Amino acid sequence: MAQIVTNAIVLRRADYRENDRMITLFSPSMGRIDALCRGCRRQKSPLMAASELFCAGEYVLYQTSERTTVVSCQVTDTYYALRNDYERLSHGMYMLELCGAAVQPAQENERLFLLLLRALAHLCYGDVPARRITAVFLMGMTSLLGFRPQVGRCAKCGTPVLQNRTNDETLIAAFSPEHGGVLCPGCSAGERCRLREKDVVYLQEIMRRGIKSLDAEGDCPQALFDALRSMAEGRLDTPIRSGRMLV
Ligand SMILES: [Zn+2]
Repeated sequence: MAQIVTNAIVLRRADYRENDRMITLFSPSMGRIDALCRGCRRQKSPLMAASELFCAGEYVLYQTSERTTVVSCQVTDTYYALRNDYERLSHGMYMLELCGAAVQPAQENERLFLLLLRALAHLCYGDVPARRITAVFLMGMTSLLGFRPQVGRCAKCGTPVLQNRTNDETLIAAFSPEHGGVLCPGCSAGERCRLREKDVVYLQEIMRRGIKSLDAEGDCPQALFDALRSMAEGRLDTPIRSGRMLV
């Protein structure tokens, strides 16, 4: 039996008994933790905010051999404004579900935790298009799972993809979810997601600068976004249901 203090964010919640809730937390040092939040649905419960989706803070947990219980939480952010924008909310919920599938119990993943918090802050407080933020998250998460997307050289044959820069709108390459990256013109036949030169540069910027690449203009093309989703979700064992709600 032990008391634990850890930063964490709520990925999932399910009502339990009359006033309780089971929550799934993501801790940077302890991975996924299922915890019981007792009495949190009672009015004026000090644990009310701590049991909501997106709540991030310093959680005090009590662990026995049977279960983990939330003792208290010092809330740092609830990303409350996401509730006012359905599109941004659906992207945020999608990221939470991806983390729930990617993170295992007792598995440290501080970089994914920080990526999630930064992406949620952009969604909640910034004005970058939601699809662009989620695209960065998908590329980053896939890398952190050990499947770094290939964007410089063709993921199939290894040829550098941008050999002669032309700056026009011609479809010169493709993105293949199966191969986990960009394909050169010679390997692109039959691929669904074709890319212009600027799309390849956009992907290279994401891999080079991560979340900082969000300071650039523009949106992520829909076909590329779908391909990035397919790549990232394909690396997880669980289907991601909230992806259907994305707009
Ligand atoms: Zn190739």
